[in-house]
Amino acid sequence: APGQPLLELAPELVGREAELIDLAAGRLDRLEIPMFSRVGAAGQPRYCRMLLKPRAGGAGIFLFIEDITAIGEIQQRLMQSRNELRLLADALDRKNRDLVAANLELRKLADVRTTFVSMAAHELRTPLAVMRGYADMLLDETLGDLNSAQRESLLTLRRGSDRLLEVVNNLLDLTRLEAGRMELVMQPQDMGALVRAAAREFRPLFETACQRFQVAVAPDLPAVLADETRVFQILSNLLSNASKYTPAGGLIVLRAGPAPSPAELLVSVRDTGVGIPADELDRLGSLFFRARTANQVDARGVGLGLYITNSLVQLHGGRLWFESHEGLGSTFYVTFLLADAP
Ligand code: ADP
Repeated sequence: APGQPLLELAPELVGREAELIDLAAGRLDRLEIPMFSRVGAAGQPRYCRMLLKPRAGGAGIFLFIEDITAIGEIQQRLMQSRNELRLLADALDRKNRDLVAANLELRKLADVRTTFVSMAAHELRTPLAVMRGYADMLLDETLGDLNSAQRESLLTLRRGSDRLLEVVNNLLDLTRLEAGRMELVMQPQDMGALVRAAAREFRPLFETACQRFQVAVAPDLPAVLADETRVFQILSNLLSNASKYTPAGGLIVLRAGPAPSPAELLVSVRDTGVGIPADELDRLGSLFFRARTANQVDARGVGLGLYITNSLVQLHGGRLWFESHEGLGSTFYVTFLLADAP
């Protein structure tokens, strides 16, 4: 509006009078206020940009006001989003720090548990082995003749200490596996000989349990790369489970032969036992898991053996799997890598 004072028209220029004088005198080329807000006609906020330029010959000032509300609103929103993002990033940072601290605490607790289990198991093992040794000595009658009641009592004592020793040894293996301290001595092994040795060791157990036992070792098996003691442990575990979960009169078959892959050798243990329910097959082999069917036979256990067996097989570079039908029986398969893979 002509004649209206500039500062009344554009109060945003208050405080910049010196620049306005320079502008009017042609000493300043332009003056810009990139963004300011005004209240619009309907009371809503408007964002504007102001540009002032000198008129040629010192004849006043041009004043341009541009409505940039759309851009202004976007910029406002952008700034708000940026602030929100910064808040979220801070919160995430705090959560991350909490997680790292919680993880450290968990690891410490796990270490304490592993150390405790390992120490307790070591402490239990020596007196248990001594007890078992004395039971053996008495049963051999080196300390005098036994009557049948004494023999029965000693046999019960020996079975009990055997079971305890097995649990204690499994706990020790578990702590070794968890700490990544299970060390294998890998050497070329004659799997046929190892399978036959395990069969010899287990035949009396099957006879006592009134189970039939067959062994089938394919001729001329190539050597595998394995830790002899641990292979024996793997075979023992599968054979002992086959016996435990098969009622009297059942059949157990131990086989060693070629595997589907030419770089491996396959060992299997089949039984005609209680089997595993179909809905529990995928949980078998997890720590401390026992199938429902385990209660159908008088087989005590804690669900450690299969987990350790599977871990040992994997440490050897092999695989463990099984097929089972409830009430019909199970077959456990294990592969070992050949010492000289073709
Ligand atoms: P445990 O025998 O001490 O319970 P394992 O880890 O050796 O522990 O086995 C875990 C579970 O797997 C057993 O409790 C049993 O339910 C099932 N299982 C293992 N082997 C057999 C088998 N040959 N037949 C039927 N069930 C089996």
